[in-house]
Amino acid sequence: MARKEFIEDSEELRAVIADLKSKTEKTEKTAPLPETEAESAESEEEEFPPESYDEDSFTDDSFGEEIAYDSFEDRINDTIAMDGIGEAVTRQEEELKSRQALERASAREKRASHEEEGERQRAPKERRVSGKRKKKKDDNVIISLEGVSKSYVKGVPALNNVNIKIRKGEFVFIVGGSGSGKSTLIRLLLRELQPTRGQITVNGYRVDNMWRGKIPKLRRSIGVVFQDFRLLHDRNVYENVAFAQRIIQTPAREMKRNVPDILATVGLAGKYKAKPEELSGGEQQRVALARALVNKPPILLCDEPTGNLDPRMTIEIMNLLDRINQNGTTVVVVTHNEKIVNDMRKRVITIKKGVVISDEEKGGYIDEDY
Ligand code: ADP
Ligand code: MG
Repeated sequence: MARKEFIEDSEELRAVIADLKSKTEKTEKTAPLPETEAESAESEEEEFPPESYDEDSFTDDSFGEEIAYDSFEDRINDTIAMDGIGEAVTRQEEELKSRQALERASAREKRASHEEEGERQRAPKERRVSGKRKKKKDDNVIISLEGVSKSYVKGVPALNNVNIKIRKGEFVFIVGGSGSGKSTLIRLLLRELQPTRGQITVNGYRVDNMWRGKIPKLRRSIGVVFQDFRLLHDRNVYENVAFAQRIIQTPAREMKRNVPDILATVGLAGKYKAKPEELSGGEQQRVALARALVNKPPILLCDEPTGNLDPRMTIEIMNLLDRINQNGTTVVVVTHNEKIVNDMRKRVITIKKGVVISDEEKGGYIDEDY
């Protein structure tokens, strides 16, 4: 898989290089040649004035250079640091990227073959598991936890021997009282945490023992939504969604199509210029959903997505999640909302003190004192 993607990258790279060469030729014909190296550097800086563009904070992961973020916030912060977010992607930015791509091309190619070799040595288990899975009947399992325990403090498990399988296209509620381990479960799937024991597989990736460098790839297959929305407050709706596309270096042309598309899907096409504080809670959560979905991940994880919403908005968001699920996305929703869970008649997994105490198709909220 890594190899295939590298080949695709190489094709993309070749296109970028060809494009750049033609641009360079044009420039060379008109621009006078600089006389010294110092002058050359200066004139290049003028040619690509990215203003406050900070090359160090730019995460270029489209050509095999991946940065593993420790948390979703880190991902967001990194992107905020990337200057130019929220602007239409200018020609200058694209030229800058092309130039960087060209400069790094040879080094990258060397590194890629090196990485492939390293990966083969580092993760034989992971390969074996995905190979096995293909032969199994439950090929459709997209999330799997086997014997998973997680203790933050030695001897006090937040999750205790959890076994869950979720198939592609399922809609699953995870319910349980406060402190029962629901968020811990979500964070394990995102590899924000590692389990103390057990195996976790998400979208074909062995997550529990995953090599750090692969984490961004895992996270690209998961959209995440939280109770507190986590929007960028100084950016408008369009920009909040577009940044998720910038993280994965989506070409400007695609981005200009994808962002309005997903905003229309969540019913916010008319509000793309609004800032988060100008929106209702339900609308803010829809922006967060659009951001989570714009890169078309196969999995959507929601941790108490309606925890801050009134009942009417809660229903709106749940209906939207249902629609998203009907379009093929696997949806996992952690919630406290008894009424919604009972009304929707989906699979319900109940966790109590770190232990799965029930798992029912078309279930309801188990009314217990947790
Ligand atoms: P839920 O989301 O169901 O409310 P959590 O997964 O957040 O539950 O927490 C499960 C248990 O793990 C709780 O007892 C909580 O106090 C503990 N816990 C969660 N996060 C941490 C942490 N970072 N460090 C130590 N203990 C934690
Ligand atoms: Mg929680």
